[in-house]
Amino acid sequence: NGHSAGASKPLFKVNSPNVVYTDSEINTKYTYRDTSITKGPDGDLVATPTETRYDFKVDRKVPKVGVMLVGWGGNNGSTVTAGIIANRRGLVWDTREGTQAANYYGSVVMGSTIKLGTDAKTHKDVNIPFHDILPMVHPNDLVIGGWDISSLNLAAAMDRAKVLQPTLKALVRKEMAEMKPLPSIYYPDFIAANQEDRADNILPGSKASMAHVEQIRKDIRDFKVANGLDKVIVQWTANTERFSSLIDGVNDTAENLLKAIQDGHEEVSPSTVFAVASILEGAPFINGSPQNTFVPGAIELAEKQGSFIGGDDFKSGQTKMKSALVDFLISAGIKLTSIASYNHLGNNDGKNLSSQKQFRSKEISKSNVVDDMVEANSVLYKEGEHPDHTVVIKYMPAVGDDKRALDEYYAEIFMGGHQTISLFNVCEDSLLASPLIIDLVLVAEMMTRIQWKKADGDKYQSFHSVLSVLSYMLKAPLTPPGTPVVNALAKQRAALTNIFRACIGLEPESDMTLEHKLF
Ligand code: NAD
Repeated sequence: NGHSAGASKPLFKVNSPNVVYTDSEINTKYTYRDTSITKGPDGDLVATPTETRYDFKVDRKVPKVGVMLVGWGGNNGSTVTAGIIANRRGLVWDTREGTQAANYYGSVVMGSTIKLGTDAKTHKDVNIPFHDILPMVHPNDLVIGGWDISSLNLAAAMDRAKVLQPTLKALVRKEMAEMKPLPSIYYPDFIAANQEDRADNILPGSKASMAHVEQIRKDIRDFKVANGLDKVIVQWTANTERFSSLIDGVNDTAENLLKAIQDGHEEVSPSTVFAVASILEGAPFINGSPQNTFVPGAIELAEKQGSFIGGDDFKSGQTKMKSALVDFLISAGIKLTSIASYNHLGNNDGKNLSSQKQFRSKEISKSNVVDDMVEANSVLYKEGEHPDHTVVIKYMPAVGDDKRALDEYYAEIFMGGHQTISLFNVCEDSLLASPLIIDLVLVAEMMTRIQWKKADGDKYQSFHSVLSVLSYMLKAPLTPPGTPVVNALAKQRAALTNIFRACIGLEPESDMTLEHKLF
């Protein structure tokens, strides 16, 4: 299918004295333009345009990348694996509606486009696949592996998930049956008690230990060697855990966290142990579930090691709609006053979330997603004022993976009138989450190949360890300590595309189209 690791020929080249291509790198001098606001002595605001020069360096060699999923045998893990195999082999299968070909719909990187610029002759927009803006890995080339506390091979796991069509399953069954999750760590207190009966593939020990960290590190190294990989990215798509209590002396600093693991402290979760092992191994670690895997000590450890981390909680359905719709309402000057979000689902995720402590993690990650948009609008909302927001999740086995999400948005409009918007969203949950798993890998990997410096004499350095650029794919975006969280979906996408553009010396995407207005 023509995709393989190595230097790939770009779809376009930037023609600018600020952008220099070598065989191995793209070197760019970029001017970041912003506006600095100060308050004058009379209390008036003064807006001063600012310019900061950055040098960016992009490594052009596309590496051979492996993905290790924690919870590989779950609905997401088995679905994304089958999906990549089907795409790699260009599969077509029969369905009730006719034939269906493999695709990457729902992946920003593989399914969406970026406006590169305007055609010099026709003045029409020239749009290119997102994937071609930088030399990114192709998902067909990803090698997949991982861990699960359930021993089922991936073919049996895909049957258990009840997501994919039988005709597609038949085509990938043989390959999937040969894939078996590595034994994982299981600390029963962290996930719902109703998960116990699937835990038949576990490492000895039921609390955190350095032996567990070492075993996971070894698993990552072995996977890398066995598959001849340049890089491994680890992603948590295992069950939602309860929150860990934040305790001074236990998980507040890197040093204390490592000591707490050594001491087998009961507040260190399996996901934090996986994160620590990945960080120490230099493998980017992404958390696709809502729990607080990244306790302060884990973030500090990543910063110290210069390893990349990203999280939390895949943003697939309800929250994605919410972060687009609320952005629209509030930007339109409409005063949103309440959001009632109700879900029911019947997959194993729903079963796990039927337990109160695990539901609480999800409730928290779903709750803060409109804060930044409300805070930004001081015309509609007084300081501290906030729309009411309730989230309900119910387990309904009969609907399986076809999750239902019902949302009511209630808003105040002109002159005391009201607007009620009611949404009913039905979809296969794992078919929305799988392309996000792919995007998170592709974008995180790309970020490991971009470096920057400020002045000519400085040394190049990496982006901050906490990859907030992944926010578009995540419900409760983790950001570098002390920096703001952006939830508005359009802003998240703009950050992603414009940072990638900046790395090759292109200005941010602009919708001014002055060429069509001033002539
Ligand atoms: P799932 O229950 O089908 O899969 C989770 C898998 O993790 C199971 O196979 C389980 O055996 C395994 N597991 C549990 N603890 C483990 C451990 N310590 N080590 C290794 N494996 C372990 O769930 P899913 O539908 O695949 O979702 C996975 C996670 O993604 C959930 O936490 C869910 O909340 C989150 N999520 C999913 C979506 C979505 O749209 N599907 C969206 C946001 C977040």
